[in-house]
Amino acid sequence: MLLIKNATVSSCRNNDKECVHIVVDGAKIADVVRGEMPSCDFDKIIDADQLLVLPGAIDPHVHFDTPGYTEREDFIHGSQAAAAGGVTCVIDMPDTSIPPVTDRAKFNAKLKIIDEMSVVDYALWGGVSGNSFRANSWQRSMQGLRDVGVVGFKTYLLSGMHTFDHLFPLELVEVMRHAGDMGVLVGLHAEDRDLVQTRSAVLRTAGRFDPKAYYESRCDPAELNGIRQGVAIASETGCALHIVHVGSSEGAKHAIYSRKNGADITLETCIHFLEFSNDDLIERGSIVKTAPVVKTKKDSDTLWKLISSGGIDYLASDHAPCSEAEKNTGSIWTDYSGMPGTELMLPYIFSEGYSKGRLTLSRLIDVTSMAASRRYGLDYRKGRIEKGFDADFVFVDPDRKWIVEGRNLHSKGRMTPFEGREFTGKIVRTICRGNTIYEEVGGITTKPGFGEFIKRGPS
Ligand SMILES: [Zn+2]
Repeated sequence: MLLIKNATVSSCRNNDKECVHIVVDGAKIADVVRGEMPSCDFDKIIDADQLLVLPGAIDPHVHFDTPGYTEREDFIHGSQAAAAGGVTCVIDMPDTSIPPVTDRAKFNAKLKIIDEMSVVDYALWGGVSGNSFRANSWQRSMQGLRDVGVVGFKTYLLSGMHTFDHLFPLELVEVMRHAGDMGVLVGLHAEDRDLVQTRSAVLRTAGRFDPKAYYESRCDPAELNGIRQGVAIASETGCALHIVHVGSSEGAKHAIYSRKNGADITLETCIHFLEFSNDDLIERGSIVKTAPVVKTKKDSDTLWKLISSGGIDYLASDHAPCSEAEKNTGSIWTDYSGMPGTELMLPYIFSEGYSKGRLTLSRLIDVTSMAASRRYGLDYRKGRIEKGFDADFVFVDPDRKWIVEGRNLHSKGRMTPFEGREFTGKIVRTICRGNTIYEEVGGITTKPGFGEFIKRGPS
């Protein structure tokens, strides 16, 4: 038995904090004790010394690229970055694996490899690509993946990957109708393919290779149109829809409006959309390049309002690092889209959201763990500091200031546009299923293979 004493936790009763002692039996929380310290023979006692103790964060959108593009990232480095960022469970995307996770055999092959590598727990997205759809056995493949416990099915209206192609809107209707019948969730990369491709072609023909051209090729209404299409199909088919990495505030508002009218829709945004705008992309170039593109300052301001009010459900990192060479090919069109994110997601939102008073403590916990846990059916064991849940915690020293240095990140790709930023709130320890997996002094304290696959539970 492990005792974590003097932990400051969120008190759900009055949206304040309280000091508790947490009893851990093996991998599970056995009790949360208020008042006097429990007197029992503990094998180990950790004194949290009044530090803030949050549920381990869940990062519901990462690309750890194993097996596949492991020159960019792999599950060892990615999961170590997660652990250092207070994340105890990641949900890995199917599309940057080779082969992509579009049927049960490919799922099994991936699971076998990453099971030896992860230092944090993980769930997996399945996917339906244009490639798998047109191969004509996609319904059976979806069934097989649902049965092994994927959290949902990722799809694209616009894709940059030949191994995981887009679905045409009418194909997406078929997939979402089938998903609705099966009662499974569809995740959508929502951008208007025709609009983006036409604009890109015009700009490239005009000899534009600058960052502003990339912004112009994908600025709204590109994402707004994609979201509109997804939302319309969700409303028509009754399929549960999750829109990934929302950067368009008008798109977010449109989806939220449809949810109020009964559609089963959730949204995530990412810290790069909260922090950066087209001005940063134009000034700093590819280091801020993502897909969808960062939008305007007005979009960021509105996204902040929506994440604090609950309109946007939760955060994800869309962790997708690469080498410096891939970020500097000489043309904005071929420079890689994406950045490392899982190690900075919780620190960023803690500092810029909670410390600056934009998010309450309970909302911070919701956007970094509880809401995603509920949506993906992991809330039978993840996302709460409560008896019976997994003993997943992150200890935060709330007032400590520190500076982001890319060279200290655990990811393979360490180029971050947050370089040099000062954050308030330092992660000092991460515990997963009762085991310390990261400490500020000492770093990663567990071996690859510790992480377990977490199935989507009964909903
Ligand atoms: Zn992604």
